[in-house]
Amino acid sequence: GRRGRATMAEQGAASRPPPDVDTDDCLREYRHLFSPDILAGQVAFITGGGSGIGFRIAEIFMRHGCRTVIASRNLQRVSEASKKLVAATGQQCLPLSVDVRQPQTIVAAVDEALKEFKRIDILINGAAGNFLCPASALSFNAFKTVIDIDTIGTFNTSKVLFEKYFRDHGGVIVNITATLSYRGQALQVHAGTAKAAIDAMTRHLAVEWGPNNIRVNSLAPGPITGTEGYRRLGGRFAEEASQFDMIPLQRAGNKTEIAHSTLYLASCLSSYVTGTTLVVDGGSWLTSANNFPAMLGIASSSAK
Ligand code: NAP
Repeated sequence: GRRGRATMAEQGAASRPPPDVDTDDCLREYRHLFSPDILAGQVAFITGGGSGIGFRIAEIFMRHGCRTVIASRNLQRVSEASKKLVAATGQQCLPLSVDVRQPQTIVAAVDEALKEFKRIDILINGAAGNFLCPASALSFNAFKTVIDIDTIGTFNTSKVLFEKYFRDHGGVIVNITATLSYRGQALQVHAGTAKAAIDAMTRHLAVEWGPNNIRVNSLAPGPITGTEGYRRLGGRFAEEASQFDMIPLQRAGNKTEIAHSTLYLASCLSSYVTGTTLVVDGGSWLTSANNFPAMLGIASSSAK
């Protein structure tokens, strides 16, 4: 009866993470939560799609009927990623080389994507660079490089997509940002500043491009396992020091959780959502320590 089924339902199911794998490989099994055809016929252009969070976003989108373009500097990396994605999902995936700091490389990639697929519906700005470093030790060039890739790269890619397709056809943009600036995270002035500027850009472009039926939102992940970010920013140290006990949901997130939230923002499920930042961090930024000396220890022991 009804009561029996209710008691059998898993407790806490709404905050239980879906399975994930820590490497840049596809999921071994996948159970659809969203409608499997929610992105059917669509095309997504994903910068940073060859690794980490961007790779999983590509996979989850493809599992929902989307074709993808995955673009980053290293053509070999995106080509290998593309083979895995196609094998696991049966959808098309076009790997392309771009450096988001060089607008002409984005123009060439978008032209090629449009030649292949005739449309682009979704842009995911995932390309970024990060490392731990105190402001006092950060070179002028290191700060500038992070702003160039994260902030200016996001603008360059958004503008090219606007001019080449979104202005006339509408579209949706999801910028992958971070919560670093909310509490002035130690050793992260470069990335925190860069991502805060992207969140501002999200609001500006949402206002200017809304009349063109373009939605623009940010998604700010917390600590996400199986990523370069997690490895470089001390995820394992935090794990070993039981620092995740401080996070309201008591754990790090995984790439599939970020991909699911990105799918929400990229799909018609969020048709009236624009100009906002969706924080996907288990409540982490509200409660986690921002301990400067401890972070310095992590920075020196994780330096390459
Ligand atoms: P990742 O695997 O290192 O992803 C970064 C991607 O950006 C790489 O695929 C890289 O590929 C690409 N990229 C770097 N510079 C580029 C450039 N100039 N032009 C084009 N592509 C470039 O790291 P991740 O940890 O999954 O991070 C993905 C996104 O999530 C980033 O925006 C990051 O800031 C954000 N995020 C991550 C976490 C986390 O816990 N991991 C937390 C908060 C936010 P190439 O080397 O081939 O160019």
